[in-house]
Amino acid sequence: MKSRSLFVTKPYNYELKEIDMPEIEQDECLLQIICCGICGYDLEISGYLADNPTALGHEYVAKVLKVGGAVTNVKVGDQVTAESCMACGFCDDCRNGRPDLCQSTPKKNIWNNYAQGFADYTIAPAKALVVCNDLDPMDAVLSEPCGVSLDLVKTADLDLTDDVLIVGQGPIGSMALQIAAHKTVGKIYVVDRHEKRREIALKNGASVVFSSMDDIGEVKFNKVLLTAVPELLPECINHTKFGGYVCFLGSNFKTGGVVAIDTHQVHFNKLQLRASHASPAMYFPQVHKLLKTKAVKSETIITHVYKLEEYEKAFGELLHNKDNAIKVVIKP
Ligand SMILES: [Zn+2]
Ligand SMILES: [Zn+2]
Repeated sequence: MKSRSLFVTKPYNYELKEIDMPEIEQDECLLQIICCGICGYDLEISGYLADNPTALGHEYVAKVLKVGGAVTNVKVGDQVTAESCMACGFCDDCRNGRPDLCQSTPKKNIWNNYAQGFADYTIAPAKALVVCNDLDPMDAVLSEPCGVSLDLVKTADLDLTDDVLIVGQGPIGSMALQIAAHKTVGKIYVVDRHEKRREIALKNGASVVFSSMDDIGEVKFNKVLLTAVPELLPECINHTKFGGYVCFLGSNFKTGGVVAIDTHQVHFNKLQLRASHASPAMYFPQVHKLLKTKAVKSETIITHVYKLEEYEKAFGELLHNKDNAIKVVIKP
């Protein structure tokens, strides 16, 4: 069986190849891709991590075409989303009720190097798949990044009346805003340098929006959620109330991620720095419900949809048109 599959071959150089699909193993499924979102991590891989051809696309929705003999959790015809990294279920952390801490994640996962989500077909271990037959694929396609946003909001442990600052309104920040708006009656301030993203944030529950951290003035918040570059961490600390939490996720492979912070400020203000890292990818059933009920509105996040053969344009939107592009989805 043949499939088209998109590879990054050298920095920001993409190539659509025709490949032969392997046979599925007992615990795997053959999937037909319905759609797949481009993740910020795909851009990081494209720019800094690609020294040999790498297949791309982990935020996919797919239809199950074939299941291996040992598969019990999905059946042919099901629509599924895929966990980008699974908990093992057997280690001490998993058994102690903290699968989020699992570091024995299964070696067999959705990250193969022949065809992932930017392809006609892929193969995935059934264990990674979560059925979502009642979801519109354009909602379901946000499942994996929405899980990242949900992990960030859970990390912030929002209280009913917390005032919150969310820095960055890419897909993760935008979905974190929508989830946070359901968890606190406090004010939610948002910072993003792109005008369109600020307009959308106001529709999604932000009380006030700013184009720069400098414009916030002296206002401080119970919880600050950073979804932009880690270099903004010191300014986030400046805007956190006594006893508050600064929660952050995101990487910057270009700068290496090293940031200097004032530890006295953290210590004397009893601040907590909390990192969110949604690996293992979790909470898909909650995420499906958030997307199904429109608590998280995919139409405010997905700005562009392209066909697989239009991959240059699709990646170009995110690389060169950040004012307008938020989430770009590719449909084979
Ligand atoms: Zn992703
Ligand atoms: Zn485990």
